[in-house]
Amino acid sequence: MSIQERVLTGDRITGKLHLGHYVGSLQNRLRLQEQYETFILLADVQALTTHFDKPKVISDNLRNVALDYLSVELDPNKSTIYIQSMIPEIAELTVYFSMFVTVNSLRHNPTIKTEAMERGYTDMYYGFLGYPVSQAADMAICKATLIPVGEDQIPHIEHARKIVRRFNDLYAPVLVEPKALVGQRLEGLDGNSKMSKSMGNAIFLDSSPEEVQQQMKRAKTDPGRVHKHDPGNPDICTIYAYHEAFRPDECSEIREGCKRGTIGCAACKQQVTAAIHELLEPIREKRSYYEQRPDVINEILAEGTKRTQKIAKSTMDEVREAMGINY
Ligand code: SF4
Repeated sequence: MSIQERVLTGDRITGKLHLGHYVGSLQNRLRLQEQYETFILLADVQALTTHFDKPKVISDNLRNVALDYLSVELDPNKSTIYIQSMIPEIAELTVYFSMFVTVNSLRHNPTIKTEAMERGYTDMYYGFLGYPVSQAADMAICKATLIPVGEDQIPHIEHARKIVRRFNDLYAPVLVEPKALVGQRLEGLDGNSKMSKSMGNAIFLDSSPEEVQQQMKRAKTDPGRVHKHDPGNPDICTIYAYHEAFRPDECSEIREGCKRGTIGCAACKQQVTAAIHELLEPIREKRSYYEQRPDVINEILAEGTKRTQKIAKSTMDEVREAMGINY
């Protein structure tokens, strides 16, 4: 990795962020903002692809997600936080890209297929089917080189790379092919899938200590372990996955204790719950600081958006010139 990397990350703003986001992406962003120029996108347009009939969910959550960013200490002096819909150049570039992206390439995108199935779509909305094109425009508009993503997003990065390559071949090499940086995946409390708001298996970053305590009661342990001294299997236990994520240094001890039956599930759960409390406490404090200062948040978003608008304008000047439509 060279020092010239430019990082782009972001979130669909359909709800507050949770521990899955923290482990899978926010931790990476905290590290990356110290090394590289970082852009963070509040993806309100992309949220509309599934919430076009509930726009209030999006406007209500815009500041919630910004608050989540600031409360985990993403630093607006190091990370440019901006609002997608306020960069109209992204929509324009999406249109130009869509001229040479085939419908079949989108239909065969494995993430689109899975999401469409999960949502029970028998037909796909044009905006939903095309959101990988819009994501490619998000990346290309700010010439991002490095995109921290979950594993399920890898097909979108591959698609974006193909789109940029095709554009550069067709017109002129003005856009940059991004690379994926894959983050860790955190399973949900139910142990069956990744942590997600829509699956109802998440612990949110603003959860109170009581809520965390309550939610952790639901976390799955090895069901074969009936008595305290029965040997257990940490590899099928959600609590163990949380030890790996939040207490990595103590993992081997927990693993041994579980396999030998020398640690009980209640004590094991309590230890990782305490680690989660410890992680969330300063996040809650920081959140409350910013909650009382809405003007500061507005200023951060306005500043980040203004900065990105300048970059987007400059990229589109190059794009139009490359395409010969710079009248
Ligand atoms: Fe899971 Fe811990 Fe119980 Fe083992 S001891 S099954 S790791 S909760």
